[in-house]
Amino acid sequence: MHQRTLLSASRGVLLSRRASLAYLTCKSCRTRLNFGFSARRSLATLPNLPLFRALKNHDPASLAVVHNPSFRSFTYGNLVADVVQAQDRLLKSSGSGRDGLRGERVAFLAENSYDYVVMLLSIVASDAIAVPLSTGFPIHELKYIMDNSQAGMLVATKRYEDIAQNIMDGGLDRQPILDVRSKITAGASGIGVIELEGLDGVNGGMMLYTSGTTNRPKGVLIPQSALAAQAASLVEAWKYSPDDRLLHLLPLHHIHGTVNAILTPILSGSSIEFMFPFNPTAVWKRLAEPFLPEGTRDKITFLNAVPTIYNRLLSIYPTLPPEIQQAAKIGISPEHLRLNISGSAALPTPTKKAWQNVSNGNVLLERYGMTEVGMALSCGLDFADRVDGSVGWPLPSVEVRLVDTDTNEVIHPGEETDASGRIREGEIQLRGPTIFREYWGNEKATRETFAPDSDGKGSWFKTGDVATRRTVEAAGREMSGDWAKGPMYFIQGRRSVDIIKIGGEKVSALEVERELLSLPQIAEAAVVGLPSEQWGQKVVAIVVLNTEVAAQTGRNGKPWGALDMRRALKDRLAGYKLPSEMKVLDGAIPRNAMGKVNKKMLVKEVFGV
Ligand code: AMP
Repeated sequence: MHQRTLLSASRGVLLSRRASLAYLTCKSCRTRLNFGFSARRSLATLPNLPLFRALKNHDPASLAVVHNPSFRSFTYGNLVADVVQAQDRLLKSSGSGRDGLRGERVAFLAENSYDYVVMLLSIVASDAIAVPLSTGFPIHELKYIMDNSQAGMLVATKRYEDIAQNIMDGGLDRQPILDVRSKITAGASGIGVIELEGLDGVNGGMMLYTSGTTNRPKGVLIPQSALAAQAASLVEAWKYSPDDRLLHLLPLHHIHGTVNAILTPILSGSSIEFMFPFNPTAVWKRLAEPFLPEGTRDKITFLNAVPTIYNRLLSIYPTLPPEIQQAAKIGISPEHLRLNISGSAALPTPTKKAWQNVSNGNVLLERYGMTEVGMALSCGLDFADRVDGSVGWPLPSVEVRLVDTDTNEVIHPGEETDASGRIREGEIQLRGPTIFREYWGNEKATRETFAPDSDGKGSWFKTGDVATRRTVEAAGREMSGDWAKGPMYFIQGRRSVDIIKIGGEKVSALEVERELLSLPQIAEAAVVGLPSEQWGQKVVAIVVLNTEVAAQTGRNGKPWGALDMRRALKDRLAGYKLPSEMKVLDGAIPRNAMGKVNKKMLVKEVFGV
């Protein structure tokens, strides 16, 4: 039997419908096993799960994936055929058919492209756990993920052959499977009828690695059922449809880029246009193109992005040629860009306003989510349900509660303010079918992150994020669906870094950042709490200035500084919330690929503590 060893010793060429070569070498017996296309399974099957049912039923001629800038495109017919074949290859490589990869971790390395989609879907279809690796990570991080996930197999596109080989070098007893996909032909020819096959228990899913701050990254195991529930919830709330063309600008080892911008559009039969890495000028041109006299491309109807992407787009908009500006304005207007979503970090109100101005009134929809839970809270499709500073309501199938950060009591509806009228802050806790199963191989962390409940309906995932809840006039009237009702949630930040305690008072770093960013002198802001002998902590602002505005608005011959900042904010923030210090950085505040600031690292870098 070649079985297990093959998993850890496979080498070959995979995923290509027309590849001339497909082989695996069993390391223990050195037998070369050929799996050329002639060895295709006679009956093409996909598991009878919602995603694959949908894939099978989409119009085979409709577009699934488009590569920008080449505009090479792939239909749902192509996709279903390639997923079936790739799945077939993966399963054969395991040596024992349908059961061979059950629950096994299969890591993969692919550029933002059709290949990525084929790899992800074929791994999940094999009832295995897909572990997307970031092509931008250093080798030692990738090796860590391979080891931590105990991935028995690595699949890579040709472009990442060297990295894949490198990951396997140095002691790991594995060989990568390399994909040299040749041209894909249109249609699902050669595949024949695709049957849906019931699985005897579902073990597959996806594993994403969280960006660890103090500890090494943790593998978040999201079972197939949670992926399906997350996607179904988003379809209901955001109404993805086959008419949507989604512009995909995000990295693909995060929940945002994978679930919101691949799995959910695929479930809905939308088309995904990959445009990565992010280049703001190119994005503007793409958005404008259908509205230029010579334009031929389909318009973009759906944009999923993070606040830094919107900021960068907005900052270069004035530098674009007038005809591009004009056409882009039409392209992102509410008539054409059906939905523009922001998330992964707090959306500054000035960004939301500026986008509204440039787009003839399109309002960014803010949502909140995380790797462990997919999307949890969202504003609604109706413009009245996109309230500044709020992340809206629990998405369909998500159950949310707030647990008071002082008293540890659940804040029941109607108890949002305390006896003295102050708004209570609570940790967001979640449960329901969208929640992840476990931190891989880390029982202790898994146990500690769930809070049991005596109501018999399961434990709550403790997000570590703090929010308040309040009713907003004119919002939450079920205009965006029956889930978008009642009081709205407002994120205050992460409990560990964003809730700053000064004497007996608490300050939300996010609230202060919001106000700082509304000042024309400030381009970027991160608010942190530093130790203070007198108060326990003090509020400190780390900022990047808009140098021109700051130079023009200083007083007494001095550039605009900390005192001016405090003066400008004193009518907007209570005295104890005003930053007592302001550290000005040159350049930019360091952020990760999703535009998030790692505050613990930032404080270390800037203040050495
Ligand atoms: P990740 O798991 O990398 O997607 O990060 C999730 C974290 O991002 C959450 O726990 C929040 O702290 C933060 N986050 C996501 N969406 C928002 C939002 N709309 N506003 C503020 N913070 C957010």
